[in-house]
Amino acid sequence: MINMKAVEPVKLTLKGRFRFRCHKGISCFTKCCSNIDIMLTPYDIIVLKKRLGITSEEFLEKYTYTLADEKAAYPLIFLRMKDDEMKRCPFVTADGCTIYEDRPVNCRYYPVGQGILKKAIDKKIVDEEFFFFVKEDHCKGFQEDDEWTIEGWRQDQGVDRYDELNRDWKAILLMRNGIGQELDGKKQALFYMACYDMDRFRRFIFESGFLEHFEIEDSLKEKIREDDVELMVFGFRFMRYILMMEETLKPKPKA
Ligand code: SF4
Ligand code: SF4
Repeated sequence: MINMKAVEPVKLTLKGRFRFRCHKGISCFTKCCSNIDIMLTPYDIIVLKKRLGITSEEFLEKYTYTLADEKAAYPLIFLRMKDDEMKRCPFVTADGCTIYEDRPVNCRYYPVGQGILKKAIDKKIVDEEFFFFVKEDHCKGFQEDDEWTIEGWRQDQGVDRYDELNRDWKAILLMRNGIGQELDGKKQALFYMACYDMDRFRRFIFESGFLEHFEIEDSLKEKIREDDVELMVFGFRFMRYILMMEETLKPKPKA
């Protein structure tokens, strides 16, 4: 969750320019890694559980907490800070981030924030992505001389793969918010499993009666049996079927 008091009320495009540099010698080094609410995306969770060598269930239990989205009650996952005086991130040390290569996408974007607006263009509703700065008093990086565009910052921080793989998940959140209905407890639990808890979702597909109810090609079955990213993408399809009643899955004819 972003510190709204630090958000600059200026909507930027990819061409937006700024000066910024974050480095180990800066006086505020790691100050941004305490007492902060960092929302995790489905792909973040896959990357982090792999990095730590644990299951999605273990990761979610040990490192996260869940809040419901205000409009539609979607479960959203946040990184749990340590229970110490500073409320430090579990991955920060005096030397910096211990999982730097696999840090969550919101840590990569910082101090840039990201938003999506729905706009009507030629009678069609389209998503418009925009950016903004989060300028917190403790962050001295804005006083440094390196010049960036938002586009260049995104490339440097390696967010493309994250944004691409999380796109369908964000689209579900946006569509449902637009419809203005709340998820009931059962759908919340399915959403949590299919978007965040890949190991349990895999058991749900292969060890419950799921495959007796839906037509799934053999090649796809093999992929989602082995690959968490393929399974996550399939999870988004499954949620569109459940929430939007879209024909993203084909039920088998009843015997
Ligand atoms: S994951 Fe790394 S970059 Fe993000 S808050 Fe924790 S220590 Fe900082
Ligand atoms: S507060 Fe800003 S400059 Fe300092 S370490 Fe964090 S991101 Fe870098």
